[in-house]
Amino acid sequence: MRIARFSVDGSVAFGVVEGSEGFDGAGAPRGEVTLDVIKGHPFAEFERSGRKLPLDKVRLLPPVLPNKVVGIGRNYAEHAAELGHEVPDVPVAFFKPSTSVIGPGDPIAYPSFSDEVHYEAELAVVIGRLCREVPLERAQDVILGYTCANDVTARDIQKRENQWSRAKGFDTSCPLGPWVETELDPARIADGIALQCTVNGEQRQLGSTSDMVRSIPELIVHITEAMTLLPGDVILTGTPAGVGPLHDGDEVAVTIEGIGTLANKVIKRG
Ligand code: MG
Repeated sequence: MRIARFSVDGSVAFGVVEGSEGFDGAGAPRGEVTLDVIKGHPFAEFERSGRKLPLDKVRLLPPVLPNKVVGIGRNYAEHAAELGHEVPDVPVAFFKPSTSVIGPGDPIAYPSFSDEVHYEAELAVVIGRLCREVPLERAQDVILGYTCANDVTARDIQKRENQWSRAKGFDTSCPLGPWVETELDPARIADGIALQCTVNGEQRQLGSTSDMVRSIPELIVHITEAMTLLPGDVILTGTPAGVGPLHDGDEVAVTIEGIGTLANKVIKRG
């Protein structure tokens, strides 16, 4: 099931996405797509209302409002190598604040303090329930589903500052969407689903989740050893090789097999 969060006529709701049959080159879904508005929210049992809205009549929002986004750095060996790093012995975890989150189609505002902002296509895990000290064999149980993320990074600032808070935490640096896919088979993720980044329609990254150094369950164990995760929290699982710069006016799109496409435009902060 695909669950989107959206606004329509000034109110915000969740809905089950029906009828999406893949995407065109600009990230727009092919075919007639509707949202069946749900009663309640997706973190508990809910009912479909039967009230169906066409996708083009609503504005998609970030599919969840995370209390925190926990990023994982250098979780693909080829990407670590392209930036001159080894794969670390212990996963590198960092935060992106809730204020960095934007939704599908929202602009990425190029920060004033950087001259080198990069895209990073990533599979995002959406947490479904409050959890801490999760054992490996229970890790799958705390996942609501998966969405696409762009871990937008001010690379020059990341190299210059020991903590990555500014480099990866600036406003608009965490596009999420277009919706949460709740039925992606974990075995398929382990075997490898494709994740791709395009800029202005040109492919820049093409990776496979089979190349993750640490699996999603291992990352959940590592993170929840230290902190409680809340419903709606998000884990970014790292980016494959091929990162590179974004410029004012660029259209950047992250596409993940079985989920969809998250597209955003880069603008100068006005
Ligand atoms: Mg990243």
